[in-house]
Amino acid sequence: MNENVMQKLSYGLFVLTAKDGAKDNGCIINTVTQVANKPNRISISVNKANYTHDMILKTGEFNVSILSEDAKFGVFQHFGFQSGRNVDKMADITFSRAANGIAYIGDMCNAYISGKVIQSIDVGSHTLFIADVTDGEILSETPSATYAYYFSNIKPKPQPKEEKKKGWICTICGYIYEGEVLPPDFVCPICKHPASDFRRLG
Ligand code: FE
Repeated sequence: MNENVMQKLSYGLFVLTAKDGAKDNGCIINTVTQVANKPNRISISVNKANYTHDMILKTGEFNVSILSEDAKFGVFQHFGFQSGRNVDKMADITFSRAANGIAYIGDMCNAYISGKVIQSIDVGSHTLFIADVTDGEILSETPSATYAYYFSNIKPKPQPKEEKKKGWICTICGYIYEGEVLPPDFVCPICKHPASDFRRLG
């Protein structure tokens, strides 16, 4: 099988937020799909390594903010390249709250959708949550950012100095693993993508 076939699938990009008691948190996901319109339901697939995953498993509620083409790389670094287990991601950013009390990101997003989980399915590395859409608003008319748009227009190109380093680079987030051999079961500590998403440097 050609593993690269998976890269031909198209995706959007989203900030997924949840709230557990006083704790707000969010992460980046690329898997939000409307799965029914009567009733209106969406599915989200969330990596089990993400703190937001555990919060949604516990509380059964979330918001999805749909990132638009004016999103800066910083928002992906902020929500995607660090964990809510170690940092308060919501401390130094501007956000609003939806009717469910959970944060959504008004800046750099063109809409948000609120979801209430009706079913959780363990699909391996991720949990697939199926949710009723309980609320949502349009925030701007800027087009939604696709995964392809992110790679060609938002994500900075690797710096030449990084290319001179020895090791392996995560093609998703740019994390560099320094070492001759990348263990086959290696998982990127930043974006949680597997060894197959790494490329040898130099
Ligand atoms: Fe990575």
